[in-house]
Amino acid sequence: MSANSVALAYLVAAILFILTLKGLSSPLTARRGNMFGMVGMAIAVLTTLTLTHNVVYILIAIAAGGSIGALVARRIQMTQMPELVAAMHSLVGLAAVLIAMSAFNNPVAYGIALPGELLHASNRIELFIGTFVGAITFTGSIIAFGKLSGKLSGRPLRFPGQHWVNLGLGIAMVGFGIAFFLHPSWTPFLIMTAIALLLGVLLIVPIGGADMPVVVSMLNSYSGWAAAGIGFTLNNNMLIIAGSLVGSSGAILSYIMCKAMNRAFLNVILGGFGGGEGAAAASDDGVQKTYRSGSADDAAFLMGNADSVIIVPGYGLAVARAQHAINEMSKMLTDKGIKVRYAIHPVAGRMPGHMNVLLAEAEVPYDQVVEMDEINNEFADTDVVLVIGANDVVNPAAKSDPNSPIYGMPILEAHKARTVLVVKRSMATGYAGLDNDLFYMDKTMMIFGDAKKVVEDVIKALQH
Ligand code: NDP
Repeated sequence: MSANSVALAYLVAAILFILTLKGLSSPLTARRGNMFGMVGMAIAVLTTLTLTHNVVYILIAIAAGGSIGALVARRIQMTQMPELVAAMHSLVGLAAVLIAMSAFNNPVAYGIALPGELLHASNRIELFIGTFVGAITFTGSIIAFGKLSGKLSGRPLRFPGQHWVNLGLGIAMVGFGIAFFLHPSWTPFLIMTAIALLLGVLLIVPIGGADMPVVVSMLNSYSGWAAAGIGFTLNNNMLIIAGSLVGSSGAILSYIMCKAMNRAFLNVILGGFGGGEGAAAASDDGVQKTYRSGSADDAAFLMGNADSVIIVPGYGLAVARAQHAINEMSKMLTDKGIKVRYAIHPVAGRMPGHMNVLLAEAEVPYDQVVEMDEINNEFADTDVVLVIGANDVVNPAAKSDPNSPIYGMPILEAHKARTVLVVKRSMATGYAGLDNDLFYMDKTMMIFGDAKKVVEDVIKALQH
């Protein structure tokens, strides 16, 4: 393909990527957005193939990677998506480091230097940035994968002087980067890479519990910047554009997440909130608390006689795959003239938009799905709130207990409703490992069981 045709094809793909992001901003247009993304990516990949000399090698790599990807995608459960995403981010980071290494090893082959010539100053800066962002993304994402999949403890791991150690390592990394810039050689390059790999681990281990969503979106952003870095090394405009889009949209998502959790971005990155100590403090207060439990029949009776019901879905709804059943139940309530809405917390579930995706899959009408800021004022005037598989996002300690690790995080104010029904399998804690006083309130009835089974029983009871 001529240079002009390539530029034109890349431009079309870039526009399609921008339309993808726009489409993904609403459930109504998300499917179309995904379609744009797939077409854009196909154009970008096919165009890039025409630029390469070793198409056979690349096709072999695509076949191998594609088969592994297809296999993993078929086997993965929806609830394992966040850990899969973290694993993918780590691969982008690793790719950035490996490409930077091979470009430094043989800059002539990459067209960034003439034989016998030193690397250009701008290329040295690109290699430095691409490598350290990639290395931090690589190890940071592996730790995030471990925490999200439960292979590593979700508790924050802290030690005295942690910030100073990180700061010292950051300065050393930049120092070796400058040394590499002044005298490009393997020693400063490799030391800088090793420090960045260590920093990736140290930055993510202190983050625990409820702050993991910010980490996932932050690593998403890093992986985009790492890809953009590779784009500069390879002189590929498409990769620079696509990487920057991922990087900036990830950064915006991190900002939205931080706002949703009422956290300062820097605090999350440097300090880590949530998790272990709070859990111990919350459950070790020595007071024997009592709770009331009921059955699916009780729930059907209470909801069937209400004027208004708000359903608060959480991670457990996804685990139980109860979205279709809950939609059927809410249709029955709506047919009885009861006003039914779903209240969505921005970090409910295990990935941004998790609840919106689940409810859209079950074809819950969009006008019933209401975001936290809009619905929080309405809980006080609501007869029954059905909290189904949710826990942290309705924990009143976030508002009332300054010692709680989630203090300050906005919650769905389910505790203000007249009656609260909570469907879960046990009194176990949620992701942040915290006890939840909502479960012990006089107005609350616990209904123990798998979310799907309970909702199916409620449906049967409503039918009779
Ligand atoms: P939580 O993890 O706080 O609580 C989920 C509850 O669901 C558990 O207490 C569990 O109790 C119950 N549950 C699990 N399986 C079932 C089942 N089959 N049937 C019925 N109940 C079930 O979830 P929330 O959605 O309230 O909050 C999300 C948490 O995850 C927040 O802390 C958030 O910060 C964090 N997070 C969010 C991410 C995101 O991007 N959205 C990413 C990473 C973390 P039991 O075991 O007793 O059934």
